[in-house]
Amino acid sequence: MAETLKKLDELVALCKRRGFIFQSSDIYGGLASCYDYGPLGVELKRNVKNQWWKSVVQMRDDMVGLDCSILMHPMVWKASGHVDKFADLIAECKKCNTRTRVDHLKGAEGEETTHHSHAEVSENNLVSKICPNCGAKGQFTKPMPFKLMFETQMGANAEDSMTLYLRPETAQGIFANFRNVLDTTRIKVPFGIAQMGKSFRNEVTTKAFIFRTREFEQMEIEFFCKPGTDEQWYEHWKEQRLNWYTDLGIRPENLRLRKHEDDELAHYAKGCVDIEYKFPFGQGDWQELEGIANRTDYDLRQHQRGMRSMTKWFEAKRDTLKTPLLGEDEEYQKGPLSYFDDEAKERYIPYVIEPSAGADRGTLAFLVDAYAEEEVRGEKRSVLRFDPRLAPIKVGVFPLVKKEGMPEKAHAIYNDLRKGFPCFYDEKGAVGRRYRRQDEAGTPFCVTVDGQTSEDNTVTVRERDSMDQIRINSDQVVHYLREKLQM
Ligand code: ATP
Repeated sequence: MAETLKKLDELVALCKRRGFIFQSSDIYGGLASCYDYGPLGVELKRNVKNQWWKSVVQMRDDMVGLDCSILMHPMVWKASGHVDKFADLIAECKKCNTRTRVDHLKGAEGEETTHHSHAEVSENNLVSKICPNCGAKGQFTKPMPFKLMFETQMGANAEDSMTLYLRPETAQGIFANFRNVLDTTRIKVPFGIAQMGKSFRNEVTTKAFIFRTREFEQMEIEFFCKPGTDEQWYEHWKEQRLNWYTDLGIRPENLRLRKHEDDELAHYAKGCVDIEYKFPFGQGDWQELEGIANRTDYDLRQHQRGMRSMTKWFEAKRDTLKTPLLGEDEEYQKGPLSYFDDEAKERYIPYVIEPSAGADRGTLAFLVDAYAEEEVRGEKRSVLRFDPRLAPIKVGVFPLVKKEGMPEKAHAIYNDLRKGFPCFYDEKGAVGRRYRRQDEAGTPFCVTVDGQTSEDNTVTVRERDSMDQIRINSDQVVHYLREKLQM
């Protein structure tokens, strides 16, 4: 009987042992909440990102991609609201001085986590809450905001240096390029822009391996549509994104959609759901994998306001106007971030549906869901049952023994196969052990050259999950595996 993952620790150990994920700066004792992807991990995470890109950009006519810089003009973060509002409410335990995010505090009877990180919370609301560090009940200071953006300085001289932010999300780069994309492509609303890349948040509490870290990668979409059609696109993206995870092998029973309560919603958002995965933290903990929000026209409007305030600034400084100032009404209708619909002959600011996923969090979910432990002929094996599209190595190639021309033949097959996909050649130790190593790496197929190969030119192909072995002609191996791997 195969057992699924009970505790995250087993997976963390496997990830370290097999070179998926290491603690950052390990040789200096490590840097908390920062992780490095090793030889297998880098392939896995890249496959996750490539599958996302393929599904949301390559396979769609209504999506384009973007890759913007991490450092942006500080006005971007002023206009988006991040400079003033991007903070978590934290409270300090008066007993042990530990600071905890208010929305992560739990009550005495293990009440559900509350989710109002942005709502007003006073000390009074925290009387029933327990300190996760020392267990004291209701001993919290007044909640205070904790700024999440990392700051850095650009420029060498004090007088011309400028404070910049490491982006806390990739989304704003998309809004800032909305006009550029419209002006340089033939794309028409409804359409979306996708971007993936690093984001940084000075999180109060980090959590569970790569689940919540201070540096992480996001995969975000802003889908622009005509106001009035937004509900329909919101439904569309909920379905698409949930299907993406199950199509790549996540068990449906470990996924759910959780609709945000009204008091959790940002004031501008019309609706928001989280795709949650049942992570093996504690007793099995439903946690956000991806958020999908209907953000209305809030972001584009905010950036139009930001652009206008810059114009005012120029006006005061130089006494010249580069662009005429627009009144509020006109601004909304005709501003630089509005869209003119040729067919309907109308101008509007598009609404936005935002599916925002984490590449690291997704990678963790794929690892957790793929992990199994089982007894095979009296021996325990750990196996990662990755969908072949996500597997870091697609095929292991072995000579049964290091003689009788087997290594040469296996090498020839290996060289043929690696032109199409990542493969691994291994001739060390007993063949059973080599299979186990590939099981732990999640490799879906292994090809073995043995004594019979020199007689009839057949090789063994062994499948990871069933461990079934078949013999096929070595000339057919490339074709056979291409079909099986859909590559
Ligand atoms: P949380 O409440 O778990 O910190 P969030 O609601 O602030 O997350 P969003 O701002 O909605 O997260 O970000 C979108 C996605 O980016 C998340 O669903 C998650 O996958 C990923 N993400 C956000 N913060 C982190 C982080 N600190 N570490 C890893 N991934 C993150």
